[in-house]
Amino acid sequence: MTGPGHKPAKLAVFDVDGTLTRTYDDDIEAFTGAVRQAFGFEGVSDDWSGYRHVTDSGILDELLRDRLGRAATPADLSAAEASYGALYGAMVAARGVRAVPGAPAFVRRLLAEGEWAVAAATGAWRTPAELRLREADIPIDPACIATSSEHMARRDIVELAIARAAVHWGLAEGPDGFARVVLLGDGLWDVKTARALGFPFIGVGQGAAAARLEAAGAGYIAADFTDGDRLLRLLETAIVPTL
Ligand SMILES: [Mg+2]
Repeated sequence: MTGPGHKPAKLAVFDVDGTLTRTYDDDIEAFTGAVRQAFGFEGVSDDWSGYRHVTDSGILDELLRDRLGRAATPADLSAAEASYGALYGAMVAARGVRAVPGAPAFVRRLLAEGEWAVAAATGAWRTPAELRLREADIPIDPACIATSSEHMARRDIVELAIARAAVHWGLAEGPDGFARVVLLGDGLWDVKTARALGFPFIGVGQGAAAARLEAAGAGYIAADFTDGDRLLRLLETAIVPTL
C-alpha cells in the first residue's frame, strides 16, 4: 500500500475540463473574452474541434497566424493567459467550480490504494487548471500536471504529464517507468491523442457526447466517477482506441 518510497506501477492521466470538472463552457467564455481583450479578435469560432491543436496556446497561435499572419510569441501567450486568468478568476469567484460527480473521491481512492499514480494533462493554461482542480477538491499534485502553458500540442502535453509523474513517484522515464498508462478524457481530441500515442483510453461522458466518443473509437465509456469499482476495472481492461 502507500507509504514512503512506495512506487505505483500504473498511471491514470486525466484531462481536466469536462472530464474531472464541469468547466467546458466557462473555458470557452473565458478564452473568447481573453482574445477579444488582448487582441481585439471578434467572432472567434468556439467549435474547438475545428482547430489544429485543441489547447489554449495552440488555438491562440492558429488565430494569430490566420488573422495577423504570424506565430504567437511568448509575449502574446502571456498577454492572453493574463486576460484569461482575470476573466476566469471572476467567473470562479461568482460561480465556483463543480466537479464531475465522484471525481474527487475516485482520485483520492486511487492515491490511497497506491496501485495507480495520478496525473493531469490539460489543454488549458496552468493557473486556471490548478485553480479548477483546487476549487473542485481534486487532489492532483501540481508537479504531476502538464498544461498548455508548457506545450501547444495535446500529445506533447500528455507525454510531459507522464514524464513528470514518473519523476514525482521516483520511477525512470520512458519504457522503464509505469507498466501501464491509461488516458481518460471527454473530447474527441482526447481519443485521437490516445490513438496517436498508443495508450488505452476511457471516455468520460453521457448521451450524445458518449456516442461521439464511441464513434471515434473509444470502446470504454464512463458517465462519471460515481461507480469507483467499475472505473477500477475499466482502468485494468481499457484498450487503445481503434477506428
Ligand atoms: Mg476536456
